[in-house]
Amino acid sequence: MGELLTGGLGMFLLRQDSRNGINNKRREAGFAKSFEQCFGARLAHGDTIAEVLEHTDPEGPESVKMDLMSGLFGQKVLRGDRLCGKYYPVAVDATGVVSFDHRHCPHCLTRTSKNGATTYFHYVLEAKLVTRDGLCLSLASEWIENPAGEFDKQDCERKAFTRLAAKLKRNYPRLPVCILADGLYPYGGAFETCEGYGWKYIFVLKDSTLKSVQEDLVLPRRRDPKKSGYHVRDGWRVACEYRFENGLEYKKSKISWIECGETRTRDMPREKRPEKQKDGETHRFVYVTNFEVDRDNVMELSAGGRLRWKIENEGFNTQKRGGYQLGHKFCRTSLNGLKNYYTLLQMAHAINQFVERDGEVREQLSCHSKETVKNIWGMLVSYMIFARDPEDLPDGNVGRIQPAPA
Ligand SMILES: [Zn+2]
Repeated sequence: MGELLTGGLGMFLLRQDSRNGINNKRREAGFAKSFEQCFGARLAHGDTIAEVLEHTDPEGPESVKMDLMSGLFGQKVLRGDRLCGKYYPVAVDATGVVSFDHRHCPHCLTRTSKNGATTYFHYVLEAKLVTRDGLCLSLASEWIENPAGEFDKQDCERKAFTRLAAKLKRNYPRLPVCILADGLYPYGGAFETCEGYGWKYIFVLKDSTLKSVQEDLVLPRRRDPKKSGYHVRDGWRVACEYRFENGLEYKKSKISWIECGETRTRDMPREKRPEKQKDGETHRFVYVTNFEVDRDNVMELSAGGRLRWKIENEGFNTQKRGGYQLGHKFCRTSLNGLKNYYTLLQMAHAINQFVERDGEVREQLSCHSKETVKNIWGMLVSYMIFARDPEDLPDGNVGRIQPAPA
């Protein structure tokens, strides 16, 4: 079983875009041998791996992934990334994984367009640890899916959040968590779920949500900012004004409000600026949180709220377009297979993020301005195909690159 799962994991670790991709490499004797030396496991045929994954309960690989992530907190490698020195930022968001024009399984979500065409699809809700320097690691996944048979209403992100939160608490019981989420999350149930587990949260607040709270904010929005500051980023001078208010009440919860107004201007005197480089408009970033906000922590909390974007950029986009092929139908007919491939992808992406931060890969990337991680991985796979173990050759030195004389 270990060898079969390692084979599935290896496909994603080596950024092969399909089962066919890794099967083609596997036909090369050198590759199969290198794989075994590297991973300590024989590489099975992709169809064999798929068949096993179709018959494996998805909770198995998912719990292996969560054990792997728990180990990171034990090693304290991520301590510097905590908010307010205590809470690990965990972004929660959903993404589409596959869609079909026909019913794929009894659990598909469905949507019917105006012209009557029905789409069948699967969504997953992710809780990912996100850090300022771009790490994005899946702590837990919960599928948004319908029960088999009759039901009144389709499953949805909010219902899945209740299940995801319970899973997160069950598997990381003592982890101090701050949930970061988009404008769907400011509602009584999410506030109470987070408080019940002893978590902090920072949620995007849209003008149209929490009507009663919005009325209490009319005055605070008009007042002078309680803190302001600026920094220079990529040739822009970014001026920020912060307003906040504590002790707002919504249903059973006490919440705080943060607004950051950000105006970008070119970091050079107006008369020297090229004509078309106009100053930017002011963008407003508004959040609700259960942190007690003050002048000392408002900047950190506002920046923390914005880490949420990393789940879309470093998380979903990299997995869809950075060589992992999230969205590819690795397993067309089986829901279990689909989920298990998804979990292996999450593990491989986590491992590769640490490999890509390793000194040697960084050095390779800095050698040439156009060098890409994808190209380095391509060379790695070529090396696995063509590198020869010296013991296999009649003369131990043939085909081996000799170190240059000192
Ligand atoms: Zn389905």
